[in-house]
Amino acid sequence: MPIPSYVMLKELRKLHMRRYQDPIDESLRGWNWDRPPVKPRAYLGLTVSEVASYCPTKKDVWLRRVVKAVPETNEALKLGSLIHDVIHTTIECFRRYVSSGVDILNAYNDVVDEVLKKSTIPEQISNWVTSLVKYIVIQLLAEVLWSSVGDGINPWLPWISEVRVDGSLLGLSKNLRIDAITGSNVVVDFKVAKPSENHRIAITAYAMALEANLEVPIDYGLIIYVNGLGNTPKVSVESLYISSDLRKDFIDTRDELIDMIISEREPPKATSCSPTCPFKNSCR
Ligand code: SF4
Repeated sequence: MPIPSYVMLKELRKLHMRRYQDPIDESLRGWNWDRPPVKPRAYLGLTVSEVASYCPTKKDVWLRRVVKAVPETNEALKLGSLIHDVIHTTIECFRRYVSSGVDILNAYNDVVDEVLKKSTIPEQISNWVTSLVKYIVIQLLAEVLWSSVGDGINPWLPWISEVRVDGSLLGLSKNLRIDAITGSNVVVDFKVAKPSENHRIAITAYAMALEANLEVPIDYGLIIYVNGLGNTPKVSVESLYISSDLRKDFIDTRDELIDMIISEREPPKATSCSPTCPFKNSCR
């Protein structure tokens, strides 16, 4: 979901300063996929959710890849997926609405109605989801109205939602799906969760996969957290400089995972497990 451009500009200014103080080691760019350390030890088509797994010992990956256990779906996973779909549907409906040339001032009611009609929302969270959709539409409308003053450029239109990228050059899946990319090449990931270090690894994986494919530098990311279920939707933003350290963390995590899968070495069960882990019934 687009964030106000004044927030984006403020965050970008901070990130430019961090990049200036701590430049990226060019050998860690995704386009160096054919040489170490970026070159993977094996090409296993790992998903970003495997490399950036919530499981502290990565036992979930061992269960899926080695034991061939099937994850059980649960309410938390379904909810996360529903909220992602609602966010993307809202952005796309709004984009089509603006492009159709109708009076933008009607967008609030029209787009909110269209999104709610298109989405299957469980009764118990319908008020919360409706508030979230309204919040997103208000943000989008404010951006369009603000940018229509004078000759301003429209800052939200360049947001591309749901971008597919081939991660196979880095040993990742061929079908990575990135939530959004802004016009200034900032990778955006939406999370329905509390902030976690794994989310930083995930966005680094997406940035390096884009670099491998497009051969353009991707230095910044935005993680947009949506929380507050049951109350008012709470949206917060973490801006990220995709530094050399984060790139090394991604590479090390990916390579350790490849070693674990190839050797079939069983990791220990974690001491603190997520209550929503889809393997909790098959993990010993
Ligand atoms: S139950 Fe715990 S150790 Fe097992 S996969 Fe889930 S989070 Fe990991």
